[in-house]
Formats: sequence, structure tokens, C-alpha cells
Amino acid sequence: MTKSILRYFIVVLVITLLSTCILSTAFLSHILLERTKQDMFYSLRLMNYAIDINQPLVNQIDQLNPLAYSSQSRISIIDKEGNVLVDTDDRQVSQNHLDRQEISDALLYGEGTSSRYSVTTKTNMLYVAYYDGNYILRLSIPYNGLIDELPVLIPALSMSAIGSFIIAFLLSRRLAYKISKPIIEISESLDHMSNDFYFHLKDYDYQEFQVIVDTLHNLSHKLRKSMREVKLEQIKIDEILKQMNEGFVLLDENYKILSINQQAISLLGQMQQYDKFTDKINNPNILDALNNHISKQMIELHIDHNVYACYISIIDLGTTLLFLDITANKKAEKIRSEFFSNVSHELKTPMTSIRGYSEILSQGIVKDQQQEKEMLSKIQNEVQNMSTLINDILMLSRLESKDIKIDISQLNVKKIMNNVLESYEAEISLHHLEVSLDIEDMIFKGNDYHIFTLFSNIVGNAVKYNVDNGKIMISLHAENHAMKLTVKDTGIGIPLSDQTRVFERFYRVDKGRSRQRGGTGLGLAIVKHIVSFYQGTISLTSELNQGTEIEVIILEQ
Ligand code: ATP
Ligand code: MG
Repeated sequence: MTKSILRYFIVVLVITLLSTCILSTAFLSHILLERTKQDMFYSLRLMNYAIDINQPLVNQIDQLNPLAYSSQSRISIIDKEGNVLVDTDDRQVSQNHLDRQEISDALLYGEGTSSRYSVTTKTNMLYVAYYDGNYILRLSIPYNGLIDELPVLIPALSMSAIGSFIIAFLLSRRLAYKISKPIIEISESLDHMSNDFYFHLKDYDYQEFQVIVDTLHNLSHKLRKSMREVKLEQIKIDEILKQMNEGFVLLDENYKILSINQQAISLLGQMQQYDKFTDKINNPNILDALNNHISKQMIELHIDHNVYACYISIIDLGTTLLFLDITANKKAEKIRSEFFSNVSHELKTPMTSIRGYSEILSQGIVKDQQQEKEMLSKIQNEVQNMSTLINDILMLSRLESKDIKIDISQLNVKKIMNNVLESYEAEISLHHLEVSLDIEDMIFKGNDYHIFTLFSNIVGNAVKYNVDNGKIMISLHAENHAMKLTVKDTGIGIPLSDQTRVFERFYRVDKGRSRQRGGTGLGLAIVKHIVSFYQGTISLTSELNQGTEIEVIILEQ
């Protein structure tokens, strides 16, 4: 920078020197010309005094020479008509001189000057004429202005130009250094600026530099403030991403990872910021979706027995991927659709047989009264099955709905159990079952319909899935604001593989036997819901062909 300032100064210096030379030469030429003319007029006046008009001019002309301006001067005496009367030049001058500028001016104003190339002397001449009323006295000299003085002027001018150039150069260099030093210092400070935008600048005497320094300090302050805010925002975003249950990935236009949270890493595998996402990922569905370049899309991914909804959005910066665990939703959806298909299936079976029997009966084909009675009883049976099924479904939906208000009252559970046993009395005696009871006389706070349904389903199963002459042991006790019910039977038992599934809706180990006994497969599902309503626990132990034991503990409401 110093060099370019210096170069600029030198150019200015040279231009200044040249223009000074030209201007001063022109000025000097003018002064020289005026001085020469004055001196020549002075000589003419002296000569005029020396001339005696009564003596022949030819004789006097040589005596005038010493009074002339210089040794090369030519003196002419011309009459009013322009005829040269006498001339120091040896050559005969015959032309009329009235048309010469200096002569006509002298006749008009008393004095006249002119300069021109003289054909007579073949040089540039300066003419000065003086008119005293009788004749015109003219002095002429060869005159080239300053050119004649060049031998003297050139060395003098060159010396002074070199001298001024050296002095100006040294001063310019010093000035250039003084100007560029603060700029160099400021730019060096900016170069060494730390990552947190701190830099050190001293104060300067020049106001212009001080303004720059102050502006830079302000700028650095603003930058630090903005950086702090950006960092704070980054921390906030990182924290949000960390706390999110969903996996999140932000990619740039080239699929480089700009941000990824832990949840996404555990789903997709180890990867980190600035990794190329498409190189790290091996899930073809995600790669296909990214290649589609659709602004918003959702794909379903199955990762480690779980289902995820992956929302891919193209944004200004690049792409975002959001992974939502929808396993529970999918399961619920599956259960719902299974439930509806089961319900329609369960309703279709009794409806078909009802329609069949009623058609036969309506056509009057059956003549035997006994047969007719049997058919009617079968229709009644199927209607009963349907009504049980519908009641069970209603019960389940009521238990699942959180909005329905449930009446809670002090219940005599022993009485409820006796009612339940009463409802199974016919079956118990038909199969010669032996029921042993260990029931505590107690009061339990709950809903009577819930408790009746709970007992009825568990005891009902012990009856339905028992063997002839089998046993049922029922124990019911109060336990610290809770009630513990144990029902044990010596029935057909449940295979190990089915033991966890019997609580599912419509699940039946032996469908034929269950249906034959009017079962819908909803009993234990309802029991499970009731137990959960009372924040209780349920456990089942069973052995095939040996029997089953169910233990339920529910809390008072
Ligand atoms: P519902 O109770 O709706 O009339 P269900 O008895 O078939 O019909 P659940 O009570 O839910 O339905 O029982 C589901 C299945 O579990 C039954 O079909 C049966 O196969 C088996 N099961 C339940 N309790 C016993 C038990 N005590 N002994 C043997 N198997 C049982
Ligand atoms: Mg049952």
C-alpha cells in the first residue's frame, strides 16, 4: 500500500514539476520579451537624441551603433512614406516599409513593435520603431526568446528539478508511510481477530482513522452480541431435539447431516454431523423417498419390531426427516379392525342359523311338534347368544370410554357372589360340580354391575371349562382396602401357549366348546378391563387337564 501511495505521489510530483516548468517558461518568455522591447526603446530614444537632423543621415548611422541594443542590432531610419533612408545592414533595402506592423503602429501611436521571420536576414527578428515627427527610427535584433537562453537555463532548471524531486520524493515517502501505517495496523488486527470477534486497536490522532477504529469496535461488539444470540438459539434447539421423543434429522442440499438427535441415531445407526446421510443409511425406503424429491411425504418404516412414520419435507436449506413411533397406533388399529371383523363374524353365525330355522318353520314343512319345539328353542338359544354378545360389547365399550360416569357404592360382595353362583346353579348340578367357598363377609366400595360381571365371568369359566364331577374352590378376602378373589377349578386347563392370549378379545382355546357353552370369547377381556379400572392385578396359572387358578386383586374406589 505504501508503494502505491508513493507511486501516486511521484506521478503528481512529475506532473507538477512539468507544469511548473511549462508555465514558468511561458512567463519568463513574456517577461524577457517585454524587457527586451523596453531596452530597445530606451536605445532608440538615446539614438534619437544623438541624431542631428541637419547633417546627412548616412554619415551618422555608424556613430549610432554603440548606442544600439546589441552588437547584432540593425538600425534603420525610415521616412513617413515608408522609404528606408538609411540602414546599418549593408544590403540595399528598397521595399516600402509602410505595411510593416511596427512602422504603421509607430506612425499611429508614436511607438510600434512586431516580431517575424525576416526574409532579408533569414532569422526570427524583433522589431521596435519610434516616430519623432520627422522620421521613424527602427531597431531590430535577431530574437528567439528563451531558446537563445537555453544553454544557461537547462543546467539551472535541471539542477533545481532534480533537487526538488529528491526533496519531494523523501517527503512523499514519509507521508505515504504515515498514511498507510494505521491502515496496515488496522488490517493486521482484523486478520488476527479471534474467533469470538475480539481485536485490539490503538487510538489514532487522525480523526478519520479514529472514526474507522470506532466503527470497527462497534461492529465487533454487534457481531459478538449476534454470535451470543445465535449460540443461545443453537443451545435451545439442541435441547429441544434432545428432549424430543421423535427422531429428527436436518440435511443440507447435498444430504450432509446438519443436525441429528440421539433418538434418530438409535433408530438409524451411528452417524454424526457432516456425515453424508445417503452414504450412512442402508434403508432402501428412505433412500427411495429422498430420491423422489417430493416436497412433503410420509413413509412407514419397520425397524426392530416397531413401526415408524417418517415424515420427509424439503425445505429452503435442504431436507428434514421426522421419525414418529406409531407402533401403538398400528396395534390399536389392528385390534380395532380385528374386533369389528370378529363382531360381524360372531353375529353372522347365530343370524344364519336363526334365518335357516325360521325359514323352515315359516314354510310349514315341519309337521312334528317336538321337532318344531326344538327348532324354536335353538332360535331362542341363538338370540340369547346374540344378546350376550351385544351386552358384552356394550360392557367393553363402556369400560373403555373414560367419559361415562360410574356409580360407586358400598357393596356386599358375599351377596353378589351368591347371586352369581345362583345363576350357574343349573349347570353346576348338571355336571355334578363340587363348589367349596371361603368367602369373607365384607363391604367393598365399587360398582355393583362391575363386580357382578367380574365374578360371573371368572366363576362362569370355572363352571364351563370343568369336567363332570369336577371341583371349584372360591376364596374371597378383604386386604387393606383391596379385595382378593381366587377361583380354582379342576377343569380342562389351558395350554401354556394360550395362557397369555386368553385375555384378548374373542380369543378362545377351543372355539367349538366355547360356542357350545354360549361363550363369545369376551369374558376375560372384560375382566381385564374391570381389573384395570380398579387399579388391580390379575394372574392365571393353569395346567392342561389338571385345572386353572385365577387370582384377582382390586382396589376400593
Ligand atoms: P365368554 O366368557 O365371553 O362367554 P369365553 O369363555 O369363550 O366366552 P373368555 O372367558 O374370555 O371367553 O375365555 C377365553 C378362553 O379361555 C375360553 O374360550 C377358554 O378356551 C379359555 N378359558 C377361560 N377360562 C378357562 C378355564 N377356567 N379353564 C379352561 N379354559 C379356560
Ligand atoms: Mg368366559
